[in-house]
Amino acid sequence: MKAIILLGAPGAGKGTIAEGIKAATDYVHVSTGDMLRAAVKAGRPVGLEAKAFMEKGELVPDNVIIKIVTERLEEGKSDAHYMFDGFPRTTEQAYMLDDVLKSHGGRVEQVFLLDVPREILVDRLSGRRVCKNCGAVYHIRNIPSKVAGVCDLCKGPLYQRSDDTEETVLNRLEVFKKQTQSLINYYEKKKALIRIDAGKKKETTQAEIVSMLKVPARSP
Ligand code: AMP
Repeated sequence: MKAIILLGAPGAGKGTIAEGIKAATDYVHVSTGDMLRAAVKAGRPVGLEAKAFMEKGELVPDNVIIKIVTERLEEGKSDAHYMFDGFPRTTEQAYMLDDVLKSHGGRVEQVFLLDVPREILVDRLSGRRVCKNCGAVYHIRNIPSKVAGVCDLCKGPLYQRSDDTEETVLNRLEVFKKQTQSLINYYEKKKALIRIDAGKKKETTQAEIVSMLKVPARSP
């Protein structure tokens, strides 16, 4: 069981880039944000526990995150290659990930730090719209749907995530800044950190990361 991590501020494009990497490779995409949103939507106990933190843009406590990730990894194949997006967000979570991977003879191989200027982050988040049915992601100016408010793929309604409002966005960026430096130091010491300029087009960033992966892209 091996893993790569996409590390970056909210709005850095982790989810979008992960989708591109998933389409081109055999990495299994695990997003703790998506898992938590699904738990909230389904009214599961972990969702109820997480909801208030998510709405304020605060981190959900480590014990909740560690539980859902451990369960997810235990369901999967032990020789899978995982791509984490939005996880780990604290050093406690990073230690836990190392332990689980190690118990399956694996490790974190590469950590891609997606670097994006703050003005671009705020613009991407406040303009982001998501399909309520299929989760496809749009942006009111950069990636508009063909019909305003309607998903191109499934015709579902588009909505703004409750934590993408300006006030919550600013808090999420602060939380990211506070928590991330120690993670950066941690992975830098392990010589796993790779800095990526992710302020460009998503296709460019995706291709750059895919070209660096240890597990090669699938042949077309
Ligand atoms: P994301 O979709 O990754 O931006 O996550 C949305 C929200 O879910 C975050 O603002 C946190 O409240 C929560 N969350 C997601 N992943 C984590 C994590 N690894 N640790 C703590 N909270 C998380």
